[in-house]
Amino acid sequence: MADVTVAPEIRRLSKCELHQHVDGSIPVDLLWSMLRRHGLNPVDSLEEMERRLVLQPDEEGSLLAYLDKFHYPLWITQFYENIRSVAEAIVRQALEHNVRTLELRYSPVIHTFAGLTVRQSVRAVLSGINRVRAEHPDLRCGLVVIAMRQHGPHIAKILARQTVGEAEHLHQRSGVVGFDIAGPERGNPPRLFREAFDVARRGGLGVTVHAGEDAGPEYVWQAVDELGAHRIGHGCTAVRDRELLRRLARDGIVVECCLTSNYQTGAVARDAPHPILAFLEAGVPVAICTDNTTVSDTDQDRETARVAELLGASGLETVRTIHEQAAHRSFIGRTRPGALAR
Ligand SMILES: [Zn+2]
Repeated sequence: MADVTVAPEIRRLSKCELHQHVDGSIPVDLLWSMLRRHGLNPVDSLEEMERRLVLQPDEEGSLLAYLDKFHYPLWITQFYENIRSVAEAIVRQALEHNVRTLELRYSPVIHTFAGLTVRQSVRAVLSGINRVRAEHPDLRCGLVVIAMRQHGPHIAKILARQTVGEAEHLHQRSGVVGFDIAGPERGNPPRLFREAFDVARRGGLGVTVHAGEDAGPEYVWQAVDELGAHRIGHGCTAVRDRELLRRLARDGIVVECCLTSNYQTGAVARDAPHPILAFLEAGVPVAICTDNTTVSDTDQDRETARVAELLGASGLETVRTIHEQAAHRSFIGRTRPGALAR
């Protein structure tokens, strides 16, 4: 994707990041040094490693090709200290782009291959977050737990049960603030995961659902009607359905928009305008998000600049408002049962 110029006014804005995956955001040099430490380097140079971790132009256009980029990080993020270190590095990197509200998301189950429990896998990320928060107490930070669609509804429900005990309101530190599903979308409709989301909602967690990225608007409807989604990840195909746009606007359901990623996965066609414009026009609340800073080779400044550029003259003021409103709609500080009623 053509790069964008980041004006100093964009850099200075306080930003809110609501959709960023831990595994896809590990700084390449940190991952490289961890692979070296474990004697696991699959290639000879940092440059070659970077090509494997960052989506290349000839790999664009498919969600599954995009998801392939997540294999290498999993080689080393199976150990408590490594997970803690990568989480810490990601939070520090977000701070450099003046992110003041940060929700990271992560699938604990795929970090248990070396014997960690789900609980330890969650605690490792929170521990990394808390290290940075000890130095920056005004940074708002929380974790969204992801169930992988391909693991099925039963594992998702077990995960939801294990996760609610780490909810933010139960602890004097950063905690789990939301629940999500991700992974191969088509063929794994949100409806299947209803019971898991019932558990998460009853436990006070916010609900966000990857939907409408690789499947049609009917998946977004299911996320809203059957899972009680407060927010939708990507939601690109919702623009095809006027009734759905009215519903998202009426209920204040935020669409987490990730521009660079959406073009890379083919969720939005290369020559099509990004749906964020239609969302704004329809009064649907949006957030500007990175998805994966490493895989998508981006950051909050660049994503914000991209949206500002699309909006033209009113761009700066509009992105300021988007970030302010997104910060209010973050799940952080709102995980008590009933606080996120919809
Ligand atoms: Zn995502």
